[in-house]
Amino acid sequence: MLPVISHYFSRLYQILQETVFPPKCLVCETFFRISDQGRNEIFAESDPDGHGRPPSLQTQLEISLATCLCPHCLAELVRVESPLCDCCGIPFKSRQGQDHYCGACLAAGNNFGIARAALVYDRIITKVIHCFKYRGKIQLAGPLGELLLTAFMFFWDKDSIDMILPVPLHPGRFRRRGFNQAYLLIRNWPEMAARRFGDLAPIRVERNVLIRKTPTAPQTALGRAQRAVNIKNAFDLNREEVLVNKRVLLIDDVYTTGATVNECARLLLSGGVRQVDVLTLARAI
Ligand SMILES: [Zn+2]
Ligand SMILES: [Zn+2]
Repeated sequence: MLPVISHYFSRLYQILQETVFPPKCLVCETFFRISDQGRNEIFAESDPDGHGRPPSLQTQLEISLATCLCPHCLAELVRVESPLCDCCGIPFKSRQGQDHYCGACLAAGNNFGIARAALVYDRIITKVIHCFKYRGKIQLAGPLGELLLTAFMFFWDKDSIDMILPVPLHPGRFRRRGFNQAYLLIRNWPEMAARRFGDLAPIRVERNVLIRKTPTAPQTALGRAQRAVNIKNAFDLNREEVLVNKRVLLIDDVYTTGATVNECARLLLSGGVRQVDVLTLARAI
């Protein structure tokens, strides 16, 4: 009971603070106030023993970013929803019909089982991720991590995963940036999950099992085939024994062509992992 009360008062303090110092939208840079509906949903969400109905997935995703984005930019976020590719999770243009395999997955296949994302990689989430990775706003790890956790609980049964691994950075890039964005997104999952969904154990978050041994050129300027060549053999395994027969969830910020997570999955499977799934914040389409 006490943690619920303490959480309630910390939310109340947050609201008082927002009234005096209103937050500024990360994307359009206007000052805004969290809407009354958003505030009510935050209270409902923060009180797991309350009697309100659980918010919809769309609302939960918006709640996660309600303190960073104005209501106008929030409303522009597009979540990934069916119909989508059963394997790589790309949403189809037609909003009719069932999930099925896309042409690329039918033609080439993937080393991972399924890949899913919280949001379509559009103008709004691109800007938010840019602020997080390149402008040092690491406080975004909280709301973005919550967004990712919500997507995880929506797409997976948590009993189907044993271990969560962030896609690693090469040590040189890690030193320059100061953090691995994929790890920051999941670092606080056990506490977040305990508050909202229940205990995440026995799932383990491991950040030093999959490592990056080769510094690769940035993938952004490369095409699909070049990306696969660029990333080939860039990773290595450490403490392989903890991976044997595990069902792994790989975490990254954006899924573009899938070259990076496919290479990670290939290596993990060769190291004895039973299954590799992928979750990202955003999905390029
Ligand atoms: Zn805005
Ligand atoms: Zn596909």
